[in-house]
Amino acid sequence: MVEAVIALGSNVGDRQANLNKAVRLLGTAGNVTAVSSTYETEPMYLEDQPWFLNAVVAIDTRLAPRDLLRAVQSAEAMLGRKRNVRYGPRTIDLDILFYDGLVLSEPGLELPHPKLAERLFVLVPLAEIRPGLAHPVLGVTISELVTALKANEKTVRKVGVLGAP
Ligand code: ADP
Ligand code: MG
Repeated sequence: MVEAVIALGSNVGDRQANLNKAVRLLGTAGNVTAVSSTYETEPMYLEDQPWFLNAVVAIDTRLAPRDLLRAVQSAEAMLGRKRNVRYGPRTIDLDILFYDGLVLSEPGLELPHPKLAERLFVLVPLAEIRPGLAHPVLGVTISELVTALKANEKTVRKVGVLGAP
């Protein structure tokens, strides 16, 4: 068993329902051991689109990295994800942030996720469930990455919990 950490985001349709369904589907890839609160976040990169709802979950899994990627992509497909505009609106986005301490850079799969250190919408929920986790390449903890990004002007606001009505 290894621990993988996955980031969830949605800005199309019933965002809370999309995240809830995604957590349920991730339960087929492993044992969900931690779920962050949900956060409403301002879009990055492509700013003229609805705000996102984001969360982060930890799972204990027996799947190999590529099999886990396939599992999250099939969960995205089941939730009606259409791949069109890069960084554009989506019913669900599932990114693998960490797979244990594995460092990997291959076509189609990079671990840890290459953009996590610049994304407050990932780091804030991640810091809620794994503040002391050390980034295997950067050599700093998640808490330290949040502190380093606090000057960033993007809004990330805690709004609720998954599974709540
Ligand atoms: P983005 O998440 O950048 O908005 P997509 O979800 O469409 O865009 O993902 C683009 C590609 O990123 C996928 O085809 C996938 O193979 C690749 N990818 C590389 N590393 C990862 C990772 N750690 N987790 C998820 N996808 C990854
Ligand atoms: Mg993605």
